[in-house]
Amino acid sequence: MSNYNFQTRAIHVGSEPDPVTGAVIPPISLSTTFAQTAPSKPIGAFEYSRSQNPNRENFEKVIASLEKGKYGLAFSSGSAASGTILQSLASGGHVISIADVYGGTHRYFTKVASAHGITTDFAQDLVEELPKLIKAETKIVWIETPTNPTLKITDISKVKQIIKESSNPNIFLVVDNTFLSPYIQNPLEHGADIVVHSATKFINGHSDVVLGVAATNNDFIYEKLSFLQNALGAIPSAFDSWLAHRGVKTLALRVKQSASSAQKIAEFLSKSENVVSVNYPGLPTHKGYEIVQKQHRDSLGGGVISFRVKGGASGASKFTQSTHLFTLAESLGGIESLLEVPAVMTHGGIPEEERIKSGIYDDLIRLSVGIEDTEDLIKDIEQALTAAVSN
Ligand SMILES: *Cc1c(COP(=O)(O)O)cnc(C)c1O
Repeated sequence: MSNYNFQTRAIHVGSEPDPVTGAVIPPISLSTTFAQTAPSKPIGAFEYSRSQNPNRENFEKVIASLEKGKYGLAFSSGSAASGTILQSLASGGHVISIADVYGGTHRYFTKVASAHGITTDFAQDLVEELPKLIKAETKIVWIETPTNPTLKITDISKVKQIIKESSNPNIFLVVDNTFLSPYIQNPLEHGADIVVHSATKFINGHSDVVLGVAATNNDFIYEKLSFLQNALGAIPSAFDSWLAHRGVKTLALRVKQSASSAQKIAEFLSKSENVVSVNYPGLPTHKGYEIVQKQHRDSLGGGVISFRVKGGASGASKFTQSTHLFTLAESLGGIESLLEVPAVMTHGGIPEEERIKSGIYDDLIRLSVGIEDTEDLIKDIEQALTAAVSN
């Protein structure tokens, strides 16, 4: 299927009609175990559902295809995918991560991996700081682009080049691609060794499954992660794999709609006198726009925007209580629009000084733009801005 375009692969890879019944949509395979004809001679490709399951395998195949990888590996959550990757490092290993990495990943680096003898350095600007941070023990460089919630962009191929030219060229480059989805960005094509997703967000896209996935072209990495996937057992259920696979089939349609509305909303916010500043990678005024043009499909900015509203923390609080279509809730990437205040919600655990250094001010609001009607969404934001600044 590799010569077909994205939407065709999303529909057909891993989705063959059932050879026994002809069912066009593969059935949910709930059996935990699979019959064998002789000891250690299973009838088909499966033995035990933790090791592999038909629905998980189908989902892994389609993600590998969409991320232009040879292999896909699904996990019980995005956090389990990240945790399994870090678990593959021997004690004494060193990681360099972008500073405003997902909160749960930051927590894993500093509170879980650290207990296994892994140390992590955080960099505000990887391209600038990486050469000084690379050591003999460095095993992984971890990127999120755009970052959460300030949407800073990192040049993946430039980071790969710095690694290659360093004293330690075998460092693996990991990119968390949750915020853009494989429709907008394919990190493996820009030099990443592993791409990881919280499929809970855009990939499943309907806010009803928690699931993670990784993809790679590297045989050695695949062997290691697939061993740990089975040994640690942080795998998704057959039902969740089936649901996430169903979500993938409309990924391109959803992401296009969400990014198109987000672009118009970001432009609207930029012109509003009730807004202090807007972070959105689709705006030509964004600091990383030159990288966006070569790294993102059609220069799409994605479905997430953050902006500072006038009136400080209380303005932000009022805004979030005045929207009718954007629901005040954590998470992102679903068909419904959500909003949150990172300083007191998703990023509340970060010390204030560090938070401000990353641009996460008290008046910062993060929007996850769903696939409702664009005009309705803009009207909702317009009236909430008026409510936020009035006394
Ligand atoms: C949500 C998220 C995760 C964690 O995924 P879970 O599925 O919630 O465990 C990791 N990275 C990013 C960028 C996320 O948004």
